[in-house]
Amino acid sequence: MVEARTTSSRALFERALAVTPGGVNSPVRAFNGVGGTPRFIASAQGAWLTDADGTRYVDLIGSWGPMLLGHAHPEVVAAVTAAAARGTSYGTPTVPELELAEEIVARTPIERVRLVSSGTEATMSAIRLARGFTGRDVVVKFAGCYHGHVDALLAAAGSGVATFARSGSSGVPESATGETIVLPYNDRAAVEAAFAEHGDRIACLVTEAAAGNMGVVPPEPGFNRFLSETCAAHGALFVTDEVMTGFRASAQGYWGIDGAVEGWRPDLMTFGKVMGGGFPAAAFGGRADVMGSLSPDGPVYQAGTLSGNPVATTAGLTTLRLATPAVYEHLTKAGEVVKRAASEALTEAGVPHQVQSAGTMFSVFFRSGRVTDFEGASGQDLTAYAAFFHAMLDAGVHLPPSAYEAWFLSAAHDDEAVGRIVEALPAAARAAAAAQGAA
Ligand SMILES: *Cc1c(COP(=O)(O)O)cnc(C)c1O
Repeated sequence: MVEARTTSSRALFERALAVTPGGVNSPVRAFNGVGGTPRFIASAQGAWLTDADGTRYVDLIGSWGPMLLGHAHPEVVAAVTAAAARGTSYGTPTVPELELAEEIVARTPIERVRLVSSGTEATMSAIRLARGFTGRDVVVKFAGCYHGHVDALLAAAGSGVATFARSGSSGVPESATGETIVLPYNDRAAVEAAFAEHGDRIACLVTEAAAGNMGVVPPEPGFNRFLSETCAAHGALFVTDEVMTGFRASAQGYWGIDGAVEGWRPDLMTFGKVMGGGFPAAAFGGRADVMGSLSPDGPVYQAGTLSGNPVATTAGLTTLRLATPAVYEHLTKAGEVVKRAASEALTEAGVPHQVQSAGTMFSVFFRSGRVTDFEGASGQDLTAYAAFFHAMLDAGVHLPPSAYEAWFLSAAHDDEAVGRIVEALPAAARAAAAAQGAA
């Protein structure tokens, strides 16, 4: 049955393997975490994907975050089409990029913003800026937090908590990660130890405002505030990476601040995904004095041929304007239904699991007990997840092909789409139960 359904995707994947490493342009798309052949998607509408064989799936990938409103939202499509007809790139300032910058500044705690084309570029630039502004070199990050494929951040924890990192990827020299310290997430003592030992050399600490790239692992209450205060006490900048959480986890557009803005804010923030509306657009921004160090005003160089591209920024701006509180209420409600149904199905089937949330974002861990850091996230039953994933796929629900990802809903996930997910869950949970522990 699976065979018959995936004829075209299989043939296309064979062709892709001949011209592209792993057949994909970003690794997790290759299904290496779950086995099998990735679906080539031919079109998408609302909550639904249609693959090259004409099979439809409820989409829980959402382009890995950007598709807050669902696919091919008519107003976004109309705005983008009109923008493209006016010319796709000029290399001069344009109104859409100005208005997107104004929208981001209005909705978040940042004072100045610079637009770029990817989340990787945003975090890379934020770190360069933090180093330039502080005149220091050391960067602190957390294991399991992903900040794009920036050399300095593709780092694995060193042998002790306050020691410098090893390279986390072949091709990244030790010199690129030699100024990076990797700590366990949610571990205040480790942060204190690192700052006690290296505080006067630390340019910045970068963290996902709520971790979403090892599954969803929210910061413990007060943790981000603690990080902010620790950075301030040592003259380091506090950088929250909101590429995934920004305009997704909460209606106000950002997540990192515990409840209200109570006298602290990140020095720099990065955004991407939702703010590009499905196009390559991302941003970094923050304190006016820090951002003033950026070229052309200051000595920290940063640039981009397609930065602030008028079509991409039109998509992002239209998306953000449509991201009203009602959208986040819908995400919350639909999320509650899916989380409860997943938990019930897995409980019924006897599969250990843990559902975790950060605002409207959530993920299902295939292990029991609360997950607070990467070590915890790593203890999942990946074999059970793979069986679960494929049973859901066969039932017409496309989960992320990795156990370490959030399940992304959208404003377009209506009763029909949510119903399809809920119906598919019990059989998938039984498939997971049958596969448990079998390596
Ligand atoms: C996706 C992501 C990035 C990288 O963004 P790209 O656009 O893929 O380069 C950086 N940080 C976080 C938190 C992300 O989720």
